[in-house]
Amino acid sequence: MKKIIVIGGGAAGMMAALAAAENKNNRVMLLEKNEKLGKKLFITGKGRCNVTNGADMDTLFANVCTNEKFLYSAFYQYDNQAVMSFLEKAGCPLKVERGERVFPVSDHSSDVIGALQRELKKAGVEICLNTKVTELLTSGAGEAGSAEESSVITGVKLTGGKVLEADAVIVCTGGLSYPSTGSTGDGHRFAEVTGHKIVECKPALVPLETAEEWCRDLMGLSLKNVSLRMISGKKEVYSGFGEMLFTHFGVSGPLVLSASSFYAKQKGDDIKLYLDLKPALSEEQLDKRLLRDFEENKNKQFKNSLGGLFPARLIPVMIQLSGIHPDKKVNEITREGRRAFVSLIKNLPFTVTGTRSFAEAIITQGGVSVKDVNPSTMESKKVRGLYFAGEVLDLDAMTGGFNLQIAWSTGHLAGASAGTFDKETKKRIEHEL
Ligand SMILES: Cc1cc2nc3c(=O)[nH]c(=O)nc-3n(C[C@H](O)[C@H](O)[C@H](O)COP(=O)(O)OP(=O)(O)OC[C@H]3O[C@@H](n4cnc5c(N)ncnc54)[C@H](O)[C@@H]3O)c2cc1C
Repeated sequence: MKKIIVIGGGAAGMMAALAAAENKNNRVMLLEKNEKLGKKLFITGKGRCNVTNGADMDTLFANVCTNEKFLYSAFYQYDNQAVMSFLEKAGCPLKVERGERVFPVSDHSSDVIGALQRELKKAGVEICLNTKVTELLTSGAGEAGSAEESSVITGVKLTGGKVLEADAVIVCTGGLSYPSTGSTGDGHRFAEVTGHKIVECKPALVPLETAEEWCRDLMGLSLKNVSLRMISGKKEVYSGFGEMLFTHFGVSGPLVLSASSFYAKQKGDDIKLYLDLKPALSEEQLDKRLLRDFEENKNKQFKNSLGGLFPARLIPVMIQLSGIHPDKKVNEITREGRRAFVSLIKNLPFTVTGTRSFAEAIITQGGVSVKDVNPSTMESKKVRGLYFAGEVLDLDAMTGGFNLQIAWSTGHLAGASAGTFDKETKKRIEHEL
C-alpha cells in the first residue's frame, strides 16, 4: 500500500486527494489546518463559486496570466468539461452564465464543497481537520535545506512534533491572498527549505490605489460600459471594457481587478490608467455630440450643460479637470477648449501608486517556480515524491472561473501522478535510500 499525504483542503487539495484515491491500493490522507474544508472556496464568486469557465481550450489558455505553457498537460488531462461532469455526477448541477462562467444552479458555493466532501468520503480519503503541517521530511542525496537534487520525501511533521510518514506528499497550501481562509504561505516556506525557487509574490486581481484626490471624492460611484487602458512608461499593457468603481483609496471593480494582474508585472513606477467615459463614440463623434448639446443650450453655463453626458457626481470633477470655468456660457467655449474637453472624456488620466494588500487580493501572483516542477506530473524536480498543485505554484489567471480551473487541473494531475507511483520508482527510491 502506498501512503499519500495531501496538505491543504482547498480546491486543489480536495481534487488531488480524490485523484490519488482512485487507485484503491493507496491510503490517502488530506490534512487541513482549519476546522473545515474549503474555507476559500466558500467565499468564491461572492458565495456563488464560479467553478470554471465553459469556453474552449484556446480561451482557457488565453486567460492564464502567468506560465500558461506549464499548464498544457494539466489542462488537457483534466479540462473544464471534466470538472463540470465530475460536479454534476457528484450531485451539484451547474449552469452557464455570461462570459461562459459556470456556477452551481443553487448559487451556493456550499453545494460545491458538499459534493467534494461526499466524493472524498466515498473514495475513502482520511480527512484530518485542525491538522497543521509545519515541515516536510526528506532524505537521500539532498537533506532538507540543501538545494541538491534527488532527495526523497519521507513524510511531514505536524504542530506538536508528530510525524506522519508518506511515500508521496502533495502540497496544496494556496498562495498568500485572503490569509484569513488559511492560505498564509506555508507551502512557499516548505518549498524553499527543500531547495525550490520562490518567485516573488504580489497581490493580483486586487483594487488599485491612486494618487488623485478626486478619485477618493467619487467614492461609491460605479461606472458601467467604460473602457480602461493601463500605460506603463509608453507601452499599453492592458485595455478592457466593462464596469469600475471609485473607492476611498482609489479604484476597484471588475475592470480594475483585471488591470491589476498586469500592474503586478510592471517594473517601473510610471504607471497610468486612462479611462474612456464614452467608448462607443470616436473623438469626432463625441465632438459633434458636444457641439450639438452646446448649441441647444447656448446660454447655459458650462456647469449646467453636462447633465446628459455624465452621472451627477462626476460633473464637478470633470469641470475641475477641464480647466473651463463652471460659470462660463457654453457659447463662449472655444473650439480648442471643446476639443480638449473631448480628449479628457476619452482619456481621463489617473496615476497608480500601488495595489491593496494580499488581504484584498483574489489571487497571488508568484509562488513556487514552475521551473522546479515537472509539468507532466506536478512532481518536484528537486525532491522525489513531492508534488505541488494550485495557487501555491507561480500560476494565475483572469477572473471568470480560470483560477479554480488551474486548481482542479493541477490538483487532479498531481493526485493521479502521485497515485500511480509504480513499483519501479518505489524500488529505485528504496535503492537510493
Ligand atoms: C474572494 C475570492 C473570490 C474568488 N472567486 C473565485 C471564483 O469565483 N472563481 C475562480 O476561479 N477563482 C476564484 N478565486 C480564486 C480561487 O479561490 C483560488 O485560486 C483557489 O481557491 C486556489 O485553490 P488552492 O486549493 O490552491 O488554495 P486554497 O483554496 O487557498 O486552499 C489552501 C488550503 O491549504 C490549507 N493550508 C495552508 N497551509 C497549511 C498547513 N501548513 N497545513 C495544513 N493545511 C494548510 C489552508 O487552510 C487552505 O484550506 C477567488 C478568490 C478569492 C479570495
